Amino acid sequence: MKRKTKRPARVVSKFVLILMILNLTLPFYGGATTSALETLGHHYLNGYIYRPQNTPEPTRQPEAHPAPPPSPSPSPTPSPSPSPKPSPTPELTPTPEPGSTPEPGIEPSDSPGAITDPSQEDDPNQGGLPAVTGMDLQKLLDAAYRNDDRKVAYLTFDDGPAPHITNAILDILREENVKATFFSIGNLAEVFPDEIRRQYEEGHGIGNHTYTHKFRQIYADPQNFVDELIKTEGVYKSILGEDKTFRLIRFPGGSFGDKLEPFREAVNEAGFAYIDWNCVNGDAETLDYQSPQKLLSRVKETTGSKSGLIVLMHDAPGKETTVEALPSIIEYLRSKGYEFELLPGSR
Ligand SMILES: [Zn+2]
Repeated sequence: MKRKTKRPARVVSKFVLILMILNLTLPFYGGATTSALETLGHHYLNGYIYRPQNTPEPTRQPEAHPAPPPSPSPSPTPSPSPSPKPSPTPELTPTPEPGSTPEPGIEPSDSPGAITDPSQEDDPNQGGLPAVTGMDLQKLLDAAYRNDDRKVAYLTFDDGPAPHITNAILDILREENVKATFFSIGNLAEVFPDEIRRQYEEGHGIGNHTYTHKFRQIYADPQNFVDELIKTEGVYKSILGEDKTFRLIRFPGGSFGDKLEPFREAVNEAGFAYIDWNCVNGDAETLDYQSPQKLLSRVKETTGSKSGLIVLMHDAPGKETTVEALPSIIEYLRSKGYEFELLPGSR
């Protein structure tokens, strides 16, 4: 009889122990069965085991918001010191109120800084060109206008991609075994990534011609201009590889004039460098039809005796005669002793 009366007590105590163990372990497995166990063991366990963990949690959440600014110092001492933390939070909370000023103060300083900082960080961080700054590349590009011992022609095509035109040009360049540099517009590159990919895979140069090519937008402010360059480089990276850098750019309309001086400086400071042109086929000089013969004649007129020839053409919609004139332009420049090369920084 004694055994019978003692047994239920032992069974109950064992059952409670099992419930306690289950309640500790089951939450990690997350099951519907825990709900029933919680009613029995949760409060009990809270009182002994979970309290130290539960109390800091509510304090952490309010701290988490002010924590990010002073994150280095408070983050190492989160759980051991629940009391010292409440003190920093009251200190931080009063400041936010008048400190609505510090927050906006931080934001404006961050936002202009963030725009310039990432670009500046990009220069050293982008391991592809660790030692090459925007100014370094600018010097190389400035030197492309002159070659001491030989004649070099740099064929360039702006404002693409336009698949029909761009691919026809790529076909000719492949046939002629000539490399060129394409200054594409970022938002078009997004729409026609296959053409950008083909340009790169067939050994041509990738140039940046802003994201929108809208003059009012890009020339409203140097930072707008740089932002579009960064955005377009991001498009190229998404197409060609995040490890690549594309720092060669061309100003829509050219980089000429005193008004663009702050833009040129901003471009170089952001790690980019620009090239203009000193020879044209004239395919953007008028909206009227221009025969292939006319385009060739414009190249002849503007070639002169230059040892470094940067030839401006366009692979934009409607430039069929640019395609038609290209073989004769290549033939003419070859006859004048020019070798065809990629512009520095285009790959
Ligand atoms: Zn353009």
